[in-house]
Amino acid sequence: MRYLSTRGGMPPKTFTEILLGGLAPDGGLAMPEFYPEINPAELESWRSLDYPSLAFAILSRFMDDLPADDLRTLITRTYTPKVFGSEEITPVQTLEPGLHLLHLSNGPTLAFKDIAMQFLGNLFEYVLAKNNEELNILGATSGDTGSSAEYAMRGKQGIRVFMLSPYGKMSAFQTAQMFSLQDKNIFNIAIEGVFDDCQDIVKTVSNDQEFKQKYHIGAVNSINWARIAAQIIYYFKAYFAVTRSNGETVSFSVPSGNFGNIFAGHVARMMGLPIRQLILATNENNVLDEFFRTGLYRPRTTTETKQTSSPSMDISKASNFERFIFDLTGRDATRVKALWKSVDQGGSFDLSGTDLWQKIREFGIISGTSNHAERIATISEIYRKFNTLIDTHTADGLKTGMELREPDIPLICLETALPVKFADSIQEAVGFAPERPAGYDNLEKLPQRFERMAADAGQIKRFIINQIESSSQDQER
Ligand SMILES: *Cc1c(COP(=O)(O)O)cnc(C)c1O
Repeated sequence: MRYLSTRGGMPPKTFTEILLGGLAPDGGLAMPEFYPEINPAELESWRSLDYPSLAFAILSRFMDDLPADDLRTLITRTYTPKVFGSEEITPVQTLEPGLHLLHLSNGPTLAFKDIAMQFLGNLFEYVLAKNNEELNILGATSGDTGSSAEYAMRGKQGIRVFMLSPYGKMSAFQTAQMFSLQDKNIFNIAIEGVFDDCQDIVKTVSNDQEFKQKYHIGAVNSINWARIAAQIIYYFKAYFAVTRSNGETVSFSVPSGNFGNIFAGHVARMMGLPIRQLILATNENNVLDEFFRTGLYRPRTTTETKQTSSPSMDISKASNFERFIFDLTGRDATRVKALWKSVDQGGSFDLSGTDLWQKIREFGIISGTSNHAERIATISEIYRKFNTLIDTHTADGLKTGMELREPDIPLICLETALPVKFADSIQEAVGFAPERPAGYDNLEKLPQRFERMAADAGQIKRFIINQIESSSQDQER
């Protein structure tokens, strides 16, 4: 399997060659040159596989330049009941006949990003060791992504994480989750500013090509192809959990932000998984819902981006969306490049009235939006009816999913975080605080380790250099 850029300007590369890179050199995103087709006999034979075996069957199609035994080892080390809380890894709960909840949030940081990120941690460590390289991950977070990356990379050989977050702006739970990590390769940098200041510093540092090369600076953002690939697995797993035979179809509803999770569902569908609808749910930041209803893709400015009670979906543009448009155009890189010419300059595009808009229904994606009051009402309703607590993001998904689903087609709603992470909204909805899973009782009382710094890229660079140099001296001693 080789990888191409959505904008056509990258010679075909292997999986390992694209693994550690961010954007392709032409500004596009890496895409597999084709989707492996899973025929009915194969699909039938996958039905009885456990999670690691299913993961191997799927990932080996996309990561075929890794020796099969090594890939299998990385997978079995990642997907264990110890890390994800159950043998099934992503268990399905039936709320009522035809309505299911796919639990994706039982990893270390209690949000679905762990599923891909935990695998990425092991994969990065393996590839870096093999090539005798090291990597310094620089990122900015307002919560979920940063902690998921830190818990995936902690203690990994050859990897350091420098994670910027806005000082005093994350919830106490999120802050404690990140800052209580004592691992030597994890550096929490609390910036005196807001999330956008953190992101600007990351951009400034990453645009310094000389610094970036010399100090092996990289990222683990949501456009990483390996993250998408690892998210395909649970669509198959959930399909098998709620159906008896491969003649049946199901629909999924997906709380969406950067279009990574739902794009993995799209890939599963393209591979031949009998998915009828992929229901895309947004919060008040409805840039994607607007597109799927009207054909207009209009990224927002940061000032237009609202802070909501489902904060991990508060996006101004959807980084992975370009991958979908690549498929919609029949993989016409010239056309994608032309469309993103205006997007990259802060503009928009409108596909309504074009040949592409006529084709869009073939892809099964439909969409809806919810607001804070609707999230709260959904959390309360699901609790009353099914005695099950869901978080605010999952509530966005359930609300739009139940609204748009078709009768007689089972609906699987993706749970993307546990309610304990958003205790205020849960309190508002049901009148009591969510229970903490075992092991998280004293989280906020643990000692915290972080550096507080001004929003100054120069200072961050010096800090990174110092840490790299002092840890390599440690190794020489
Ligand atoms: C990241 C995140 C999302 C959005 O997922 P995308 O892949 O960016 O669409 C939804 N819910 C939660 C809890 C998240 O952390």
